[in-house]
Amino acid sequence: MQQPIRRRIRPARRGVALASVTVLALAVTTSASTGRLMEDSPSAAGPVSMARGSALGPCMIGGTMGVQMSEGMPTPPGYSRSTGTVRALNLMVDFSDAPGQGSAMDRLAEFFPQTSKWFRTSSYGRLDYRPESPVPDWLRMPKSFAEYGIERGAPFDPGYRELVEDIVAAADPDVDFRSYDLVNVLVTPNAGPSALDTVLSVTFAGNHEAPVADGVPVSNASFVYSRQDDGSGSYHETGYRVLPHENGHVFGLPDLYTQEGGGAVGHWDIMSEDWGANNDLLAWHKWKLGWLDDDQIGCAAKPGSSEHVLSPLARTGGTKLAFVPLNAKTGYAIEVRTPGGNDEAVCKPGVLVYRVDADVDTGHGPVTVSDSAADSGGCTRRPNVHAELSDAPYGPGETFTDRVTGVRMTVAEVTDDGDYRVHVTRP
Ligand SMILES: [Zn+2]
Repeated sequence: MQQPIRRRIRPARRGVALASVTVLALAVTTSASTGRLMEDSPSAAGPVSMARGSALGPCMIGGTMGVQMSEGMPTPPGYSRSTGTVRALNLMVDFSDAPGQGSAMDRLAEFFPQTSKWFRTSSYGRLDYRPESPVPDWLRMPKSFAEYGIERGAPFDPGYRELVEDIVAAADPDVDFRSYDLVNVLVTPNAGPSALDTVLSVTFAGNHEAPVADGVPVSNASFVYSRQDDGSGSYHETGYRVLPHENGHVFGLPDLYTQEGGGAVGHWDIMSEDWGANNDLLAWHKWKLGWLDDDQIGCAAKPGSSEHVLSPLARTGGTKLAFVPLNAKTGYAIEVRTPGGNDEAVCKPGVLVYRVDADVDTGHGPVTVSDSAADSGGCTRRPNVHAELSDAPYGPGETFTDRVTGVRMTVAEVTDDGDYRVHVTRP
């Protein structure tokens, strides 16, 4: 069992704990028994199987065996597939000591259709997320919430295993678990602590030690507790975003926040910050999830100079990502971020530069954004948006330089079409 990752962020201006916890039981790449859930699904399975041109080979960095939820390419088997039609089973559960308030379908409506729309937008229509709720009522668990002893990041044993087994038993008469790619357990929000104090929401991804239902392990399951309501009045617009974050894990994405909070990536990826204004995923993640084609990626693997014309991430089509591999495990990624699509809070459009390290565990900083304006204080005052990195992108005439490796990237211009022309030099 891995150690749970804990996070408590306290933004300067409000005492909000922003957190989600991911616990990953070994993302094993084992036998045929691993994924009947996915093998039985209509359109193939698990990792996105990507046919890679050799030109991109050097940019497909990978981690050492055993890295938890590596950023490496491709994502190993065992996670839910992230393209095509994905069927999500939603189960709303309550307890004798936390009876569901309002209807179970109201709880569902806190997350849908927003979550499906979020994925459609972020994936350029490549992920058709179908939420289903064959049980329209609260599923009452046989034990009280207190009796399960659910705490942050507890692995499947023993409380979670018991809870999942009880959920399966309660739902089984109405649910064929083989029909779904992933499971969302939407817990009545009055169970457990406020998300302002402790975020219990958690995902078990690629876990084949999970309890079995209808012959398939419940190996990719997201649990959402409480409400991510910061009191700013925006809950009905932003509160669903915990679910795309948690589902990001069932697709194999790591947490980008660290013990120190969101300072590594800021608001540039929903795996970093999932409170506050809407935000998208990094282009690296979109490539990893199969939402970008190979011809939308530039790979600057050879010494010398190269030019890359990058189209804003929020727009469909065009080159989205250029990558500069430093070695087999690490490299620099560049992409263009502008307001639009799922990016609501971009206050300085430009070229975002970040380092990706496939050899770093989830929650330990596998991605680090380079700040074009260090210690500036940023350009946003929106609640729950990491301010310092909000003006991280590089604008025309600005240059990123890595003095250690000698990699340089200069933003030459913004074209009439709104694309960004970037010159990359590497030793
Ligand atoms: Zn997470």
